[in-house]
Amino acid sequence: MIRRITRFSTQSVRRQILCLSSLVVTALYQHNIHREVQRYKRSFMRRCLTSLAPRTRSSDKMHFIDIGANLTDAVFQGRYQGRQAHDSDLDAVLERARSAGVVRTLVTAGTLPQATQAAALCERHGPGTMFSTVGVHPTRSSEVPPAQLTEHITRLYDAITAGGKTVVAVGECGLDYDRLQFSTREQQLPVFEAQFGLAETTGLPLFLHDRNTGGEFARLIRENRSRFGDGVAHSFTGTADDLHALLAQRLYIGVNGCSLKTAENLAVVKQIPLDRIMLETDAPYCGIRRSHASHQYVDTEFSVKDKKKHSREALVKGRCEPCEIVRVCEVVAKIKGVAKEDVARAAFNNTMRVFFPKEAADMGDSPYDLSVSAESNTVVAPSS
Ligand SMILES: [Zn+2]
Repeated sequence: MIRRITRFSTQSVRRQILCLSSLVVTALYQHNIHREVQRYKRSFMRRCLTSLAPRTRSSDKMHFIDIGANLTDAVFQGRYQGRQAHDSDLDAVLERARSAGVVRTLVTAGTLPQATQAAALCERHGPGTMFSTVGVHPTRSSEVPPAQLTEHITRLYDAITAGGKTVVAVGECGLDYDRLQFSTREQQLPVFEAQFGLAETTGLPLFLHDRNTGGEFARLIRENRSRFGDGVAHSFTGTADDLHALLAQRLYIGVNGCSLKTAENLAVVKQIPLDRIMLETDAPYCGIRRSHASHQYVDTEFSVKDKKKHSREALVKGRCEPCEIVRVCEVVAKIKGVAKEDVARAAFNNTMRVFFPKEAADMGDSPYDLSVSAESNTVVAPSS
């Protein structure tokens, strides 16, 4: 009897040990699978970035994401104020951008038709490298009468859904009191407020526009701050007080040539912390011109020709292109007294975290350095 009990308890202990060891083996197996999945994700990301990296200037380590390019504008089809001056050269524009290190571009939209057009353009010219926004620009608010606002927001929501991964932001939306002739303050306010709801429903960040609103834009941001996650006030041209009001709301600040026109602009941009800055061109607008205070700090010059003497190898005079983002970076670096690579890195990483959060999370602390490594093929991604 005693022997039977002993045998029984020995069997039970054996069974428990077997059970425990199989649990340990399963846990180890699952842990390994998890590590393998993580390793695969990183190597996939590295391969993607290698394919995105500019090939023509391998010594240039700087990479950019242009967060604002109006590439649906007719000038990229060669039409200026309704007149055809040359053939479409969008392909050449995009190739120049790639050569300058622009690995991703956000094509901005300000109306529903533009949003559809922008998403189609991204799909056609750069799936995986070109992304778009969906929203109503403040100056186009008059096209959305109050009685149609709810229905219009539903249609914008449908456009976001239809765009899938191409659509990465709600916007551009906001307030513009410099151009009230297109839409009055009373027309702009409800359309802007309704787009906070769109960000709330979709979880997308906001691509924001603010011009000369005397603090009203900042007030609306404050009042609706709980309704959205991240947002960038693009093409920033405000005062130091405006800047600090937006930074207090944890917004990012988009800088382009228009943000750098005057000595006062430069003094304000100098105060933008690197962990809040993004770079953009707002192409075809907002290029850096010789008359601007910023021009003295530009290193890179492109060959430029008048549209009447159009050449696919040159930029068109007065038409800003995404490749010019490198000039914006150079100016910001000089006025802040830091290396241009540090400005490029900060802006790139901020942009990845806001507009591509899932990818950024898989790419570790500095997606920029992972992408630079991919280009030079010198550093292997972290092993765990
Ligand atoms: Zn704008």
